[in-house]
Amino acid sequence: MATIAFIGLGNMGGPMLANLIKAGHGAHAFDLSENALVRAEAAGATRAASVAAAAGAADVVVTMLPAGQHVRAVYMDEATGIIGAARPGALLIDCSTIDVDSARAVAGAATDAGLRMVDAPVSGGVGGAEAGTLTFMVGGPDDAVEAARPILDCMGKAVVHAGGPGTGQAAKICNNMMLGIQMVSVCEAFMLAKRLGLDAQKLFDVSSKASGQCWSLTTYCPVPGPVPTSPANRDYQAGFAAAMMLKDLKLAQQAAASSGAATPMGSMAESLYALFCNQGDAGALDFSGIIRMIDGQS
Ligand code: NAD
Repeated sequence: MATIAFIGLGNMGGPMLANLIKAGHGAHAFDLSENALVRAEAAGATRAASVAAAAGAADVVVTMLPAGQHVRAVYMDEATGIIGAARPGALLIDCSTIDVDSARAVAGAATDAGLRMVDAPVSGGVGGAEAGTLTFMVGGPDDAVEAARPILDCMGKAVVHAGGPGTGQAAKICNNMMLGIQMVSVCEAFMLAKRLGLDAQKLFDVSSKASGQCWSLTTYCPVPGPVPTSPANRDYQAGFAAAMMLKDLKLAQQAAASSGAATPMGSMAESLYALFCNQGDAGALDFSGIIRMIDGQS
């Protein structure tokens, strides 16, 4: 069993840490939030006084932070960062969803310091973090990914090695760009059907077995009825919050701009989710709730 430093103990990191401890690993935990630290101690972790103190006490460092600027600072700050404080040969695993450029910059700095690092963003949400059923999309060299696999297995059900540094983040944002575009397309189809006098259940019965079939239709159907477990049946309580979808669509657009990829539908989906999230507290609703805006009812 490893001694793990876990930094970033929020909605995702808290339950992920708990699953590592349940699997028998020792853990030194750090977060800026006192409440998060209290919860981590209750789960069995040792409270660390700083990022560097946690990293210096461990063989493996796992981070679950909000965005690229937090990851760059927590890893690369010369005086207080993980890379300066980590033990020789330590394995660094960043599970945050961040921009590809930051992921590659941090991985490069870690490699230069003689450390092994992978980017390992997740899908599965808070429910998956609690149940230990996350899917990890992992970017990094073969040896680092194989070293990370048994740690990730304690928190998830699937570990996919996507390629070199940054490709875990690339897989995550490409997938979620598809998802965002598909959800908008499914919402538009149901609203068009409504205006044409076609019953929602009938459209579902046809399209779920025809070429319009996709996850946004068959698992997260944005109208109440056809899929009883979808957020539409509970007034669009998330689920996967619209604000999270907007974050991922912004990352996709940032990556498209820096790599020269044309993603006109991704750009349109980003604009629509930005408009939706600007409407009161719509950002907290499930991302399928954008059907209200598309229907002109929000
Ligand atoms: P969160 O805001 O609940 O948690 C982030 C934690 O990081 C907070 O507790 C915060 O105090 C801590 N933090 C920030 N800066 C810090 C620093 N310098 N040092 C130490 N701790 C610091 O966010 P979350 O929902 O847990 O999401 C974390 C990451 O996971 C994000 O990148 C998000 O996009 C990704 N993600 C979230 C979900 C989800 O459903 N919540 C799903 C998939 C991926």
